Formats: sequence, C-alpha cells, structure tokens
Amino acid sequence: MSEIGHFINNARVAGTSGRSQPVYNPATGKSESSVVLASVAEVDAAVAAAKAAWPAWAKTPPLRRARILDRFKSILWERGDQLAEAISAEHGKTHDDALGEVTRGLEVVEFAVGAPHLLKGEITENVGTNVDSHSLRQPLGVVAGITPFNFPAMVPMWMFPVALACGNCFILKPSERDPSASLLMAEWLAEAGLPEGVFGVVQGDKQAVDALLEHPDVAAISFVGSTPIARYIHQTGTANGKRVQALGGAKNHMVIMPDADIDMAVGALMGAAFGSAGERCMAISVAVPVTDKVADALIEKLIPKINALKIGPAADKATDMGPLVTAQHLEKVKGYIDAGEAEGAKVVVDGRTFKTDKQGYEGGYYIGGTLLDNVTTDMSVWKDEIFGPVLSVVRAKTYDEAVDVIGQHEYANGVAVFTRDGDVARAFSHDIEVGMVGVNVPIPVPMAFHSFGGWKASLFGDHHMHGAEGVRFYTRLKAITTRWPTGMRNDPEFVMPTMG
Ligand code: NAD
Repeated sequence: MSEIGHFINNARVAGTSGRSQPVYNPATGKSESSVVLASVAEVDAAVAAAKAAWPAWAKTPPLRRARILDRFKSILWERGDQLAEAISAEHGKTHDDALGEVTRGLEVVEFAVGAPHLLKGEITENVGTNVDSHSLRQPLGVVAGITPFNFPAMVPMWMFPVALACGNCFILKPSERDPSASLLMAEWLAEAGLPEGVFGVVQGDKQAVDALLEHPDVAAISFVGSTPIARYIHQTGTANGKRVQALGGAKNHMVIMPDADIDMAVGALMGAAFGSAGERCMAISVAVPVTDKVADALIEKLIPKINALKIGPAADKATDMGPLVTAQHLEKVKGYIDAGEAEGAKVVVDGRTFKTDKQGYEGGYYIGGTLLDNVTTDMSVWKDEIFGPVLSVVRAKTYDEAVDVIGQHEYANGVAVFTRDGDVARAFSHDIEVGMVGVNVPIPVPMAFHSFGGWKASLFGDHHMHGAEGVRFYTRLKAITTRWPTGMRNDPEFVMPTMG
C-alpha cells in the first residue's frame, strides 16, 4: 500500500505524525493507498518554508512570476489526461468530466498569467501643489487554501494561480479523500520553475486545518467546502486576524417557465442534476416547473432518460455517471431518499436499488439517478444539500411562487431560469437573491476572468474567487503620497493637512 505524503520545498515529503487514513477507489470500493495526516509541527514546517521563500517571491517581477505560471499552463495542457486519471481514480468521476475540471482550472492559470496587468496601481498627479499620490497592490504573505473533494484540481486552481501571480506563497490543504491531484500540480509547478517554498501541500484533517487557522504567519485563508465548515473557518480565521473567503454548500434551483423549450430544459437538467453524480456545488438539485402542465411534461420526458443513464466506473468510456465518493456518502444519499419518501415525496425513479453488473466493480459506491416529485419546502430533501444524483421537483403555480421558493432557501450559490421571455429573464436575473444566475444555462459557472461565488450561506467573507475579486483578495492596497523639495514649506504645520 503506497502512502501519499506532503510537498514542501519542491519535494515530496513523508509524514511524521504517525497518523494516516485510507484513500479509496470509489469505482471498486478498494483502497490501495493511504494519505498522511499532518501534525501541528508538520504544518509549522510548511509555513516556515513558505515564510522563508516569501520576501524573494514578493520582489520577483510580476512578469517573471507570470512566466512560471505560463510554463505550468503548458504542462497542464500536455498532461491533462494524467491529472484527470488521478482525479477519477480517487473521486470516481468520468475521465471526460475530470478533463473538463482540469480545463476550467487551467483557465484560471491563463487568467493569472495576465497578472502584471491586474496588479497595476493608480496615480494622480498634483493632488496638492507638487504633491502626487499613487496606489499599489502588494501581496499578503503566506496564504492557505483548504479545498473539498469534489474538484481536487479545479478548486485549488481557483486559488493558487492568482495568489502566486500576486506574489504570495501558498499552502494547499486538499481533501483527504482525493489527495493525489495536489501533488501532481505541486510537482509541475516546481518543474515550471517555481522557487522552493513558494507552493506547498500539507495533507491532513481538522488538526492541519486548525493549525493553519491559528498560525500567526498565515495571512489569509481561502476555503471551499460544506457550509458548517465554511462558517467555522470564517469565524475562526477572522477571529485570528486573517482575511478569509469561505465558500459553502448549495441547493441550486432551475425554474422552467411555460414558454420554455421543454426538450432543451430536459437535456440541461439531465447534465446538471446527474453529471458527476450530483457532486457539484453548481449541480441543479431542484427543478421548479411553473404550472402542473409543465411539471407533468417535464417528468414524462425525464423518466426514460434517467432510466437510461449509464452508471459505472470511469474506466468504462460509455459511463455517464460514476460512483459516489465514499461508502458513507452513499448511505447518506440513500438516507435522504428514504426521508423524502417518508415525508411525502413521490419517488418517481428510484436509484437506491441500483447494482452494477460489471465484474470487479461490485464493491463500488454506485447509486442510480433518482427523481422525486411533489417535494415541498418543509422536507429535508429540499432543505439540505444532498450532494448526490437526486433531482427534486417542487411544483409552482406561478412565476412569483417559484421565485419565493428560491428566496426561502438558506443557500444561494447558483440558479437558472428556462424561458423564451426576455422580460421574465431580465426580472429573474436582476431580482433573484442568488450569486450566480443562468438564463437557459443550467450551470452558470463564471469564466476565470469573472469571479465565482454565491450569496447567503453559500459564502462567508467579502470576496468571490478568481477574476478581479481574486486579485483583490490576495493583495492589499497601499497609498503613497509624494512631495519633492521644490515648493516645500519649511515651517511646521499643526493643522490637518489639506490640499485645497
Ligand atoms: P467538507 O466541508 O467536508 O471539507 C472541505 C475541507 O474542509 C476539506 O479539506 C476537509 O479536510 C476540511 N474539513 C472537514 N471537516 C473539517 C472540520 N471539522 N474542521 C476543519 N476542517 C474540516 O466538504 P467536502 O465534503 O469535501 O466537499 C463537498 C462540499 O463542498 C459540498 O457542500 C459542496 O457544496 C461544497 N462545495 C462548494 C463549492 C462552492 O463554490 N461554493 C465548490 C465545491 C464544493
């Protein structure tokens, strides 16, 4: 059994804590490796390496930093398949889906390569007589990223390319469920020329996270994961004086208006609800058809498509939907379907009994696609994030009722409306209290040069990730006011200086 360790000072490092846990292949249910779990001392060592590297990295011209990221980007293009394979082996998602994740991460690297432009300050000539003022964006120091299992390459790449381009050193604490992608990215950054200590990986659990949250030399924390942990990270990190952005869970609704192209809506729902087995923070987990007529038509068209989903291992190229990430998560998702049924939802398609007949994969964590009808806002299947291939249908009589359902939810990550009516689309986009909105787009994940983030309990902090918001998060502003001897007064000024 191989052991997955840390990455410090551009080298793989074995764990010393004596603690580790198995990493499973969700497609087979077997474990062939384990991941080490860092002690406080190991986190200290990673932070010390980053702190030592920071002064030189911060002073490295932005163009040189960007060129290293540019080389990293080329490596990602060449070896995307290798990274996708590592992701599929520990996460379970299909190869093409994993490759899509790598590409979306790579796009943030492309964005970060333009950082010299983003880091430009502002200048005002003659704010007073012979006095000029300019502002700079400077890096924060050592920053850390704590990431979830569902995008082991993309979510770290929402963070570190921008952080590094801005002149920070970065420590990644990936999910302990799929830790291998982080090490490949770390090795490729080193190969691209990143100096020792600038990027490190610390594997671990709560102990490592707490050590980062409390460490006096960590200036900022970026977190993506579930809402209870995001809330904890934000509270603890800010109490320790850090800048924190903590993205949490989601329950994304899709409103289908009576004028919508129903086949288009069905196709969109299939991908958005069942792609990656529903383990996406932007997955659509609730369909809100407006009028019973639309609901009935939608359900009739969804049933055969859900029954036809090809469920299996990533190794099978025909697979639409892989397994869930762990045996515990599989039980949790089944438990939600049980609860929904007990609370009065109608189980239209039942994925609980799905079994794979593929030899060698009988122990994998598979579940079939599930469709629940007549779901109401008092049910746990609506209130909680299930994070599995379970699509709930909440029927609405009117557009206003649909909007009201969405407004009641504590999460506000993504949302979509399917309609041909421009007025409805505009009113929906402008009025809905959700961070990312799609009009006839089911998964409206912003491109790298825009920023990603939800509202309400889907994000704690002030900054979204990547794009201009990412640059703001990873830099601090300095304002410099300059006067040269010409025209200087020698007599002391005891009143508040004004330039009028
Ligand atoms: P998680 O919250 O269990 O774990 C996320 C990270 O926090 C991991 O690195 C984990 O090691 C760490 N962690 C877990 N428990 C902790 C604790 N008690 N104290 C300190 N650290 C702890 O999330 P997950 O199951 O890995 O990922 C799925 C969740 O992430 C879903 O809720 C999903 O919606 C969310 N997510 C959100 C976004 C977004 O952009 N909003 C994106 C991807 C995933």
